[in-house]
Parts: sequence; C-alpha cells; structure tokens
Amino acid sequence: METIDLTNLRNFARRTGQQTHPELLDARPLEHVNKIEIDEEHITIEFDEKTTRYYNTNEIAHREWVYKYNDDPAFVNAVRGVIELARKHLKEMPENIACPPGCAECCSGYEPFVSKSDVQRIADHLGLTYAETMERYVVARPSADSYHVGWLRKVGDDISDQCVFLMGNRSGRYYCGIYPARPGDCREFTPIGCDDVDASLPRKSSFKVGAAFQPKRRGRARNG
Ligand code: SF4
Ligand code: SF4
Repeated sequence: METIDLTNLRNFARRTGQQTHPELLDARPLEHVNKIEIDEEHITIEFDEKTTRYYNTNEIAHREWVYKYNDDPAFVNAVRGVIELARKHLKEMPENIACPPGCAECCSGYEPFVSKSDVQRIADHLGLTYAETMERYVVARPSADSYHVGWLRKVGDDISDQCVFLMGNRSGRYYCGIYPARPGDCREFTPIGCDDVDASLPRKSSFKVGAAFQPKRRGRARNG
C-alpha cells in the first residue's frame, strides 16, 4: 500500500492528479457497522448509517470504507478465516428445514393470490366450474398485469381469519383441505426462514390428516 506523505501534497497531486487535501480525510472513528461486503478483491464496509425523517420522505446516509485487500496478507488471512468458517458450517441443517406437523400459521394472516390456472386447478379438484370457484372461494381483484385474478377467501372478514380451505380444529391438527390443488403462492411458501411458525409444536410429531375439503353440493351441505 502506498503511503501518502501529507507534507508533500503538491508533488503527489502533480504526479498522480489526485486531490490530497488533508481536509478530505475523514478521520472520524468507524463506530456502528451496518453491512460488510467482500468480493475477490475488495472489502466494503458500510457504517454509521443515519436516517433523517421528513414528513414525506426519509433520507438515509451512511459512510463507506472500500479497501482493495487482495495484496494485503493480514486481510487475505482474515477473509480466508471467514471462508473456512463458511465451509465448516455449509452443511449444517437449520431447525426450520420443515414445518412442524399441523402448523398453519401461514394459512391465516396471509391471503394467497391466485392465477387463472390456480383457480382452474382448484375448480377441477373440487368438481366445480371456474365461475363457481371464483364466486365461492376467491375475492376477485385482477392484478395490473392480469396474471392474478384475486386471492383466496377467508372464513371471516378479519385479516387474521383462516383460509377457507384450512381443515383441522387446532394448531397441531391443521392441514390444507385442497393440498394437491393448492395455489402457487402456497406451494412457494417455504418454512426456511419462516418467522410465523407455531413454536409450541413439536417438530418430530405426526398425525393422520382428515378428509379433504368438500364443497357444498345441492342437497348435501358439507364444508363451504
Ligand atoms: S412453519 Fe411457517 S411455513 Fe410452515 S406451516 Fe408454519 S407458518 Fe407455515
Ligand atoms: S390453500 Fe391450503 S395451503 Fe393455501 S392458505 Fe389455504 S389452507 Fe393454506
């Protein structure tokens, strides 16, 4: 690393074209680290983030230190240590690799969006027409790109009410009543990183799910 002799600023500036005014040196201490990024050559530390709130906007400013570390043995060793730790932890399994049986916290509070093909799949699964499925089980609200046609209804009007297709009578016994035909949104929901899990449920338990959801048919009312 080249050391800049601040007593010889003019020569350095003439030779390199770089500004070397001492007042450009930010000598304030690095206090609170917000983010560290490392690539093959550079380490970038964002720190001392400050948010100024206005009525209509927020102004977020941070300081940033960038260092080309790859010819500095001390930094190369430190980064090597991080890589070795990552190698060591790579195959560790997170606890939340699967949902505890009977958990369905995500089937309340969220409203899965449905596409036309989701609705058609649910309709075929229930033996209903597309129009009947839309009318009974979907709050129609087409998205701007026309991909989604709405979201699944809940059993009530409250945002935290359960999905109309959720079966079972309590946490630990819940299951999806249309599992093979559930919407793409539900298929993509992953327990990895899920913060909604019912943490009181044992992860190693199991239970036999009950009957699938059955729509009301003329003359024999069932679930919905
Ligand atoms: S663990 Fe999370 S993703 Fe799995 S059922 Fe519970 S709330 Fe849903
Ligand atoms: S369709 Fe099934 S998986 Fe999706 S929210 Fe409803 S009960 Fe849960």
